[in-house]
Amino acid sequence: MNKLKYFRCSSCLNISTRPRIVFDKNGECNACQWMKEKKTINWESRINEFKKIVKKYKSHSYFDCIIPVSGGKDSSYVSYKIKHEFNLTPLCITVRPPLSLSIGDENLNNFINHGYDHIHITPNAEIMREINLIGFDEMGFPYYGWLISIYSSIIRTSFNFNIPLVIYGEDGEVEYGGSNKNRHKALFDIDYLIKSYLETGYKKVLELFKKNSEGSYWFTLPNQNDLKNKKIALTHWSYFENWDPYRNYLLAKEKCGLVEYETPNESTFTNFAQTDQALYALHMYLCFVKFGFGRATQDAGIEIRRGAMTREQGINLVNLYDGQYPEQFIDLYLDYFRITKKKFDSIIRKWANKNILSEEDSGVWKLKFKIN
Ligand SMILES: [Zn+2]
Repeated sequence: MNKLKYFRCSSCLNISTRPRIVFDKNGECNACQWMKEKKTINWESRINEFKKIVKKYKSHSYFDCIIPVSGGKDSSYVSYKIKHEFNLTPLCITVRPPLSLSIGDENLNNFINHGYDHIHITPNAEIMREINLIGFDEMGFPYYGWLISIYSSIIRTSFNFNIPLVIYGEDGEVEYGGSNKNRHKALFDIDYLIKSYLETGYKKVLELFKKNSEGSYWFTLPNQNDLKNKKIALTHWSYFENWDPYRNYLLAKEKCGLVEYETPNESTFTNFAQTDQALYALHMYLCFVKFGFGRATQDAGIEIRRGAMTREQGINLVNLYDGQYPEQFIDLYLDYFRITKKKFDSIIRKWANKNILSEEDSGVWKLKFKIN
């Protein structure tokens, strides 16, 4: 890829290398276009659509729906809304992350203690570690094991408990940039889930991971027959209501006991997103190494699109914070993956886009140019 193909959205700072992102002829990304289109959406009719979906997929189970939760702002918001405004009974499910951070654990506990039925699923940690390492090495995705277990466990639990309706938070593709083809569809299917969320590495990683099927239960989707024949309805809450991460944060703080870090997270300026596990900082660093954008770009984009920050302010923050090396966690990562620093750096080097980045120090990559 040459530098010419590396450009930023003319409105927010989304980047052309972001997977599946679409731009219009004015150089505006699909997240910005969606922000405008949202103003024309008839949200009331979408809420009616939601009520119909709830009716249609009403199970004989005690629960009305499943909500995957982390204890973070977005899943807390959705759970609150479903329980208290729609008077439904959600079963909230958390798949325990590897290298969880105490603030994430605290937030999840606070959330649960505000009166939610909750299941904690803990997939085999040793298998999770192995798949995470394969993901890191083969895909540049250091928590791939956790990612596939999140989706597989939720679908398995939906089948096991006979609760067809699963409500995810936002469609990140539509809200933040990516494929926009699902923005007018209430439900999405397993194929979309595999393509957009599992990034097509699902088969490859599981082939490399040749373990007996017993231990991989929570890491694999149910068999084809079940997927074809059992009833399931996957949806994003962002389809039914104007998605606003900041509003979610405020409500989660007030109603679900969300607490924050006092200092900003590694490599960004916000302090209220994605604080449940330590591998996220490595994931975002790899995102920077592979595509040339990091967490500050993502966070600034959200602020710019909602009108709380100018593009220029965003550029300053991106130049300051994007792609910071996750120094404070490196020992933890080496310990977790049981690899040397040399091996760790070589994996990062393998994924680095050398057209736009150079290695300043072992494992530490910087953009060759400033964003403007
Ligand atoms: Zn944009």
